[in-house]
Amino acid sequence: MREALDDHPNCNCGIIGVVAEDGNIVPELFYGLRVLQHRGQESAGIAVFEEQINCKKAMGLVPEVFSSEELSELSGQVGIGHVRYSTEGASALENAQPIVASSIAGDIALAHNGEVVNADELRRELQRKRWAFLTSTDSEVIVRVLANEIIKTRDVNQALKEFTGRLIGSYSLVLLVGERLFAIRDPLAIRPLSYGRKDGMHIVASESVVFDTLGARFIRDLRPGEILELTPHGVKSTRLPHPNNSAHCMFEWVYFSRPDSVLDGRLVYDVRVKIGEEIAREHPVAADMVVPVPDSGRAHAFGFAQALGLPLMEGLIKNRYIERTFIIPDQEERDIGVHLKLNAIRSLLQGKRVVLIDDSIVRGTTMSKIVKLVREAGAKEIHVRIGCPPIRAPCYLGIDMKTRDQFAANGRTVEQIRDSLGADSLEYLTIEGLVRAISMSEEDLCLGCLTAVYPVQVPGERLRPQRRLDLFMERVDSEAETKASQEVRRQL
Ligand code: SF4
Repeated sequence: MREALDDHPNCNCGIIGVVAEDGNIVPELFYGLRVLQHRGQESAGIAVFEEQINCKKAMGLVPEVFSSEELSELSGQVGIGHVRYSTEGASALENAQPIVASSIAGDIALAHNGEVVNADELRRELQRKRWAFLTSTDSEVIVRVLANEIIKTRDVNQALKEFTGRLIGSYSLVLLVGERLFAIRDPLAIRPLSYGRKDGMHIVASESVVFDTLGARFIRDLRPGEILELTPHGVKSTRLPHPNNSAHCMFEWVYFSRPDSVLDGRLVYDVRVKIGEEIAREHPVAADMVVPVPDSGRAHAFGFAQALGLPLMEGLIKNRYIERTFIIPDQEERDIGVHLKLNAIRSLLQGKRVVLIDDSIVRGTTMSKIVKLVREAGAKEIHVRIGCPPIRAPCYLGIDMKTRDQFAANGRTVEQIRDSLGADSLEYLTIEGLVRAISMSEEDLCLGCLTAVYPVQVPGERLRPQRRLDLFMERVDSEAETKASQEVRRQL
């Protein structure tokens, strides 16, 4: 049996799109993808337009895929990029992105972050119309649905509006249609997508931290259901019909996004510190020190320690040179595995009452090893506090948590999980505490993996009721569209 050293779930992808008045935007795509590497480590790709769309992609980390020689073969003033983690066995080059397809409006290149729930149905529908598919991804389904819509409408803008109406699920997209660059966020804004700019350059990226690195200014998040066309001279915004409520993925704040990113108006670091404060309020404990599980529990632990006036100690040290996807090759080497990744400082922990903080527990396999490590280092008591409420249900919207069986909390009480971890106490943040920490209405968050109630219709699962007025009508939408366009023009 093979086992990963990190049982955090994986996010599918990170995306970026750049257009400039002049010069070559390939360096921006490359460095942007390096910043987004935490969102996908299996493949990377760049597509640029220069007379035609040129695309290079391969399996591996961004610097492995793009040597300076490879980069020098690409150039253009407009392009998109993608880093990917595959959720199924399809960790193969043909599924790497951007995906390029032909259309009557010219070639299309697409980079997608998210997951389309009705992809199989759309695939079958297109196959009946004799469309051929080269990959097993929902992203190829998206691009072919778009190409099909362009044939029907003969108008790219109209096709973009129509084809998004066919998709159910989460999708943040960057698209080249010939030399035109579009960015689209699904009507529930489940996955992040933000817009920034710097001298004559317009950029969209999965996370705002990309703008910091590229010396660009973060302007704003794309709105739910927004289609942004980025040109060398500015941006043009239109809105799709969208529900009044969003469904931002809570896990972006809890774990996926970088702490220095701002998502939908909330700095991820601040939210994590507040999560720590909320757990301290809900589940205080008498202890000598707070120890974060590095690096995922660090900000949560800071908030917890600050709220209770406890010392925050780095009792666990992480080996920075063990990659997140490292697989322990052999069962007998498992104990070596956890020591390869983490080591405990015995002189700090010996005889102490320790609060161990992490962002979440998915399978619980890593946490039980960490508890054992801290116990072996001589801790007298180990109290585990977790920043995310128990994960009990699969994610169908872009995160690699597919089966109920894999969850530590599946069919078990907190006391049973505590027992399996070997901790003296275990407490999770409540959903109410999490919502308070994100400081957004519960109705605007996706909490599907916690509640088994989803913001989109998933076969066999419960659909979240729409509590307020269901849809903006077209009239209201065009008002919003005008306002959005005016606002963007003001910002330029
Ligand atoms: S089900 Fe969970 S992980 Fe998936 S989008 Fe919703 S909150 Fe995020």
